[in-house]
Amino acid sequence: MEPRKLALVGIGKIARDQHIPSLNASKDWELVATVSRHAQVDGIEAFEDIETMLAARPDIDVISLCVPPAPRFAYAAAALNANRHVMLEKPPGATLSECHVLGRMAEKAGRSIYATWHSREAAMVDAARVWLSDKQVHRVEMQWKEDVRYWHPGQDWVFDPGGMGVFDPGINGLSILTKILPKSLHITSATLDFPENRQTPIAAQLAFHYPGASGSFAELDWLQQGDPVWSIFVETDAGVLTLENGGARMLIDGEEIKSAEDALALQGEYPRLYARMNDLVAKGESEMDLRPMYLVADAFAIGERRTKPAFEW
Ligand code: NAP
Repeated sequence: MEPRKLALVGIGKIARDQHIPSLNASKDWELVATVSRHAQVDGIEAFEDIETMLAARPDIDVISLCVPPAPRFAYAAAALNANRHVMLEKPPGATLSECHVLGRMAEKAGRSIYATWHSREAAMVDAARVWLSDKQVHRVEMQWKEDVRYWHPGQDWVFDPGGMGVFDPGINGLSILTKILPKSLHITSATLDFPENRQTPIAAQLAFHYPGASGSFAELDWLQQGDPVWSIFVETDAGVLTLENGGARMLIDGEEIKSAEDALALQGEYPRLYARMNDLVAKGESEMDLRPMYLVADAFAIGERRTKPAFEW
């Protein structure tokens, strides 16, 4: 079968680190155009604005959006209005309302839309979900700590309105929690630490309600020094499940578990996202699970604001 033609929009860090290598390695996809105001990819037709690309290349069926969340809605709406399938980087938008609008637009147009959550594709996340499916959960803890200066050097948009601050990485952990836990959890209180010169939090503490559990919480910190900590602990009636390295490692009561699905897991997060997008388009389906975003929106809705020292790069 011919590969599907795809245009990539927003040629920045994640497009270069993950999307382009994944597309180049796949038989299912062909990257045929880019849209970016400043950047280009060698050998690929480049456009500076999406309307021009959509008009010039009616043959491109799928548009994958790697711009930051705040400007993403306009690009996604333009693509859907032009009757194209759309793949969204995480978080799928800046607000829940705009994500729902996009979902309805895609449904009306009969096109696929996919709100991706790359951390859900980490090697051991599916195994964790299966293991937890018949367990009684007693307590949930999430630690999501990294150095923003190392992971997002100079990316001021993360501190602008709509950039989500520490929830930009933290929503990855929340996307795993909402996938692996058998029941819904919700936020009961939060504290959000805002640098005095920035619009989004640099740290956050969340308390969760989970049916039958107590003392569940998350700690998010963007001023972590040294190695990042991307860990989840779930205490159950049958032992403690630990996910480390953002879902790449799983331990039960301290014993590492290897996945039976190693071949698939080894493909990596982004090849799995593109495999899923290919599947959705082939079946005429969409996937817009917004539960991680609800948790972030709720943290902003009920969080207590604390002012912290100014942040400079
Ligand atoms: P980035 O490099 O700062 O931005 C991506 C590209 O988007 C930029 O190169 C820029 O290209 C374009 N852009 C930036 N601001 C824009 C604006 N206001 N309007 C239109 N275009 C704009 O960001 P990134 O790190 O790749 O992150 C992009 C998305 O991927 C985010 O949602 C992030 O959460 C997600 N993500 C990032 C990582 C990571 O490690 N960085 C990992 C996983 C997911 P032009 O200036 O050329 O238009």
